[in-house]
Amino acid sequence: MVNLETNKNAAERAQIALGRAEFTVAAHRLEQLPPDAGVEVACAGRSNAGKSSALNALSGRKDLARVSKTPGRTQQLVVFVLDPERRLVDLPGYGYAAVPLDLRAYWGQLLQRYFDGRGALRGLLMAVDVRRGIGEYDRIMLTLAQERGLPAHVLLTKSDKLGRGAAAKALQEARAALEREFPDARAQLFSASASTGVDEARGVLAEWLGL
Ligand code: GDP
Repeated sequence: MVNLETNKNAAERAQIALGRAEFTVAAHRLEQLPPDAGVEVACAGRSNAGKSSALNALSGRKDLARVSKTPGRTQQLVVFVLDPERRLVDLPGYGYAAVPLDLRAYWGQLLQRYFDGRGALRGLLMAVDVRRGIGEYDRIMLTLAQERGLPAHVLLTKSDKLGRGAAAKALQEARAALEREFPDARAQLFSASASTGVDEARGVLAEWLGL
């Protein structure tokens, strides 16, 4: 049986931990990352999917993810340290049409190596615009997580933009697609604007980060 009190406490612990997050490094190369110890969660999402807004809502801070949007950092692994044992790593979106092919190949290899080799990595949190559904870029990221045997959690963002029925349908479709292709991935509705699903997502982070 689900223990609501425990879940609420876990969500609170995640909020407190995320609220203390400090930008530490933006890495072009894996060698620039902090030592591969403790635990970390990777965050991904197409540009404009609502990832920054989600990270801000989860942390209860308005500006947490702004640093990831600084020009030049959008193609780096942006590391936030929560405490000496825990980190969030904001991944670059390498799948965009605007990115030259050779750079895309570079980022593809870098992310592959990150997922393959990063022992501290515990899960992938992914922002997907609920109106677009799971797309090609998202599938690449989910594949990286799955190949490593890691869980993924999809936030279907901006759910306030859909009516209740349409949002429920989009959730059902996303879950059906994940069940077929990525059995270790879960999905939930999320809205930073309406604070929908915030504690549910915090609970997942608390579990992965051992909070
Ligand atoms: P990112 O590029 O994935 O980091 O996306 P942002 O967080 O910057 O959001 C992209 C756009 O979507 C911005 O205009 C946000 O204001 C908007 N947005 C993000 N989250 C929500 C939400 O929960 N509801 C609504 N209505 N808009 C949102």
